[in-house]
Amino acid sequence: MQRLDTLAWPDIPAAPVVFVPLGATEQHGPHLPFDTDTVIAEAVSTRLDAAAIVAPVLAYGSSGEHQDFPGTISIGHSALRMMLVELVRSTAHWAGRVIIVNGHGGNIPCLSSVVPELIAEGHDVAWLPCATSVGDAHAGVTETSIMLHLAPDRVRLDRAEGGPKTELALLLRKLKRSGVRAVSPAGVLGDPTGATAEHGRRCLDEMVAGALRRFEGGRLDDRGCLTEAA
Ligand SMILES: [Zn+2]
Repeated sequence: MQRLDTLAWPDIPAAPVVFVPLGATEQHGPHLPFDTDTVIAEAVSTRLDAAAIVAPVLAYGSSGEHQDFPGTISIGHSALRMMLVELVRSTAHWAGRVIIVNGHGGNIPCLSSVVPELIAEGHDVAWLPCATSVGDAHAGVTETSIMLHLAPDRVRLDRAEGGPKTELALLLRKLKRSGVRAVSPAGVLGDPTGATAEHGRRCLDEMVAGALRRFEGGRLDDRGCLTEAA
């Protein structure tokens, strides 16, 4: 893997695979930094393919549901859409394939509509999620553990607290209508209790393994998302 921002133009091979990490700048509870999704998307992107190029991370996404917390900066669906359209059209002049590596669930509706449009335009583009088999929704044990592994000096474990005990599916309707703060005043969905760097390393390994299976599987669903080979 080479980082685009460390290269000069003669270094670019013919038609490379380019990974574009896509994160968010949004609150992650009292104990995690705003760039949690961004850090995770970049970490996964840089661990996928030795021959690929990793573009500079996109640190802004669609995070309207977190807007009631100070510090959150959301660019919303339409600005994210336009950014991805222009980014892929431009990158496609020299890249063989563009793969957006998404670290934030709130970006998925946008990706699911824009990537199929770009494919219809003739571009070789896809996206994939940073996912674990058992993860908790937001700032819980998974994200806290991964940040303890990747950036331990920025995790304030002394401030960590659990979110509402209600099942997420039941909270979702209120969350969609009124935002995260209405269902969790601390901004946590899930529970960071028991988070460790070692668990974080395993979670990150699982995310990378899942992303690799999708990358190598090469099949796309109708949202432009890479899926594992059947
Ligand atoms: Zn997150």
